[in-house]
Amino acid sequence: MKSFTGIPVSHGVTIGTAFVLGAEEFRIPARCQGSPEERDLVELEVGRFHTAVDAVADQIAADEAKVKARVGDSVGAIFAAHAQMVQDPKFHREVEESIRDKHFSPEYATTSVLRRLATEFRSMESAYLAERADDLLDLERRVLRELLGTRHEEIASLKEPVVVLAHNLTPSETAGLPREHVLGFATEIGGRTSHTAILAGALELPAVVGVGSFLQHVGGGETVIIDGNEGKILIDPDPDVVESYQNSRERLQTVARRLDALRDVDAQTKDGTRIQIRGNIEFPHEAQHCRDLGADGIGLYRTEFLYLAQDDPPTEEDHFAAYSRVLEAANGNPVVIRTLDLGADKVGGAATHLRAEHVNPDLGLRSIRLSLGDVDLFKVQLRAILRAAALGDVRVMFPLISSLAELRQARVILRDVCEELEDEGVAFRGDLPVGIMVEVPSVAVLAEDFAPEVDFFSIGTNDLIQYTLAVDRADPSVAKYYNSADPAILKMILNVVEVGRRTDTPVSLCGQMSSDLKFLPLLIGMGLRTFSVTPQVIPEVKEVLRHTSLGDAERIFRHTRGLDLARNIESYLRGELFKLCPELVN
Ligand code: PEP
Ligand code: MG
Repeated sequence: MKSFTGIPVSHGVTIGTAFVLGAEEFRIPARCQGSPEERDLVELEVGRFHTAVDAVADQIAADEAKVKARVGDSVGAIFAAHAQMVQDPKFHREVEESIRDKHFSPEYATTSVLRRLATEFRSMESAYLAERADDLLDLERRVLRELLGTRHEEIASLKEPVVVLAHNLTPSETAGLPREHVLGFATEIGGRTSHTAILAGALELPAVVGVGSFLQHVGGGETVIIDGNEGKILIDPDPDVVESYQNSRERLQTVARRLDALRDVDAQTKDGTRIQIRGNIEFPHEAQHCRDLGADGIGLYRTEFLYLAQDDPPTEEDHFAAYSRVLEAANGNPVVIRTLDLGADKVGGAATHLRAEHVNPDLGLRSIRLSLGDVDLFKVQLRAILRAAALGDVRVMFPLISSLAELRQARVILRDVCEELEDEGVAFRGDLPVGIMVEVPSVAVLAEDFAPEVDFFSIGTNDLIQYTLAVDRADPSVAKYYNSADPAILKMILNVVEVGRRTDTPVSLCGQMSSDLKFLPLLIGMGLRTFSVTPQVIPEVKEVLRHTSLGDAERIFRHTRGLDLARNIESYLRGELFKLCPELVN
């Protein structure tokens, strides 16, 4: 049995067969067929690599001849670079060494060597080298196709349930996982609040990310346990370990069945204070799930997933159909539609062009900046939101606002769209509540100035933490610096809550922090009364509330004010949660 630890990002435990997913959805065996001692088998693998490379070289030569015949020598010469790369002795040497010394399969060795080179090329800030990086990835696909032949297996054509193991899964790849055949997943990279992690929650797939390099220890077909509660992956687990996981899975299912009964019970504290618990969704169908779990509407609809799931940008009607479906499921409860928050890690599908070589996409052309820079695109979405608002309680929310100027610009565009709809005689509602995400520190600090110009605030701790503590939310190497309990974060949240109270501006919290049960009593103690959480945790959130009085919450909040280190605050909160609800603490 081999075990690895990563970041647990979606609850639950699953036991299944390993499916190693590599480049372009190829299933890549990580290890050679034979053991390191079986030199003949290892040499056979080296031979397989050379056969594949020779075949690719022949294909390139054939392509070159074809293109030269049709459009002339100068264009055909483009293939010379490809031909040179595929025969590059250094590339051959590195792959051979990986097969012989590290016992990697030729597929895995090819992928690792070419991907590392491509990353190096990309980091050199030269457009020429960036294009060469794409050539390397093209070469990787060609060699893999040769190596894998009929073993090339697409995830979309899976027939059996599997556990997906990958270096990385982008949010759009995660969104495309066939739910009926994927039991859970683990990735080498990724962070606690990366969008891939958030999607795992939405799809209710047990998941562990940021495991670091582990794929070379698995070839595909092994039994794997993904423990999304503790962040563990166990490959070829011992029988007693499998048995103990099966037992604990049954125990958790019993707790879950008991909590199921809470779906029709209002969310309230032990002493009867009503708390609004809304759901965060990425796809329209999740709205019904939120309703089934007893949510008070949708507190965050991440509409950018409309762009990630299809190749063409969604039309106004695509938007409208999605919003109408969510509204219907919300059954009269509020639906907060966030305008598109593309960019950073949310690229792919109709947003593929955003995969530009930004120096740092998190600080680049992302989110509201993208909408303000492409007013036509923005207007398509706003038209659909305003039309949907005529059908129910729709509230519009702008993401990543960092200055009043941006907010005012967005509001002007919204007003223009109202005028256009008015002129066209289209039914819409123009006086819908307009709110903003508080996820950039500048807004948290200046909440007082923003309050008169918004109808509500929603605190997005996922980004607020990333931008305040200078930690990439998707980078596991800095995961220990990413901490919701940091006193600076708590102070910013408190400022927004107090501004909300003074100015009568509703405040909610929709970052992952509110789905982390130990923070709930503290946030209630600060004065928050509305949360938007991952649908999966709604029953547990209700259970924690039922066991927490306002007095408990205020005492917990006061105590944390005397603590100055995130780790002390966190362990104190964990201890308090254990006292309130022991069975919900692992
Ligand atoms: C946040 O940043 O906290 C948030 C809710 O938005 P997202 O996770 O989509 O960036
Ligand atoms: Mg955000």
